[in-house]
Amino acid sequence: MASPAGTNGLGRLKGKRCLVTAAAQGIGRTTVETFLREGAESVVAIDINGEKLEELEAFPGADIRVMDVRDGTSIRKLAEELDAIDVLFNCAGYVHAGNILETTEERWDLSFDVNVKSMFHFIQAFLPKMIAKGKGSIINMSSAASTLRGIEARCVYGATKAAVIGLTKGVARDFVRQGIRCNVICPSPVATPSFSERAEDKSDSDKDHIEYLETKLIGRLATTQEVANLCLYLASDESSYHTGNVFTIDGGFTL
Ligand code: NAD
Repeated sequence: MASPAGTNGLGRLKGKRCLVTAAAQGIGRTTVETFLREGAESVVAIDINGEKLEELEAFPGADIRVMDVRDGTSIRKLAEELDAIDVLFNCAGYVHAGNILETTEERWDLSFDVNVKSMFHFIQAFLPKMIAKGKGSIINMSSAASTLRGIEARCVYGATKAAVIGLTKGVARDFVRQGIRCNVICPSPVATPSFSERAEDKSDSDKDHIEYLETKLIGRLATTQEVANLCLYLASDESSYHTGNVFTIDGGFTL
């Protein structure tokens, strides 16, 4: 099954200011590049990995910031410093592997802090200026894992990603009259560095998903570009009637 080409730079985000978390690699990284290719005026690219993030310096318009998405103080400071953004893509996430008996309270808290509380911080900090502008698109990263389909050893991860859907719908409902759109995406396994690492672990269920997708479903994992294309649509004015909507992108994974 052929992978899709990148977007063709038609300027679908012309003049828009965007912010993407987990921007150094994987889905976040491809989304930053896609947004810039589609004419975004700037993309604030946030990640904890400064070394990898530096690779984005080669892209005009990329504004790289080394930051931990759990650091509410720095997030609020950044929101005060920047003019209103048009697009906020909360992409950062941590995958905890293990069933409930194998989970510690510390890992539970870490999962919720990275996957959910980070979105609370970013949305709360950046929303007021979006409201003042009367327009904004927020895209939150959930997952097909456990939210739409039960996955072995992902109960904590699934709980966080289900929470993201609730957060998205709540924000969408509360600010629908102020020009704010908030949507959530739920990908099945995507070929990213962290997914490959997990799939190499023979005891992890991620290796089974590759085989299932390859032999029974669409024939391969999703590419980061396919997910970035969906983010582009949600960031652009083409998706102007979508808010509070859950976008599954899964090659049939939840069938
Ligand atoms: P990845 O795991 O390959 O990379 C994640 C990036 O996030 C890294 O650059 C890392 O440095 C950064 N990061 C981690 N913790 C951070 C923190 N506390 N603060 C700032 N940055 C931090 O990325 P991916 O596989 O593309 O996943 C991105 C998102 O997509 C996650 O939320 C993940 O749960 C979700 N997702 C991934 C898949 C998949 O199969 N890859 C499927 C569905 C959903």
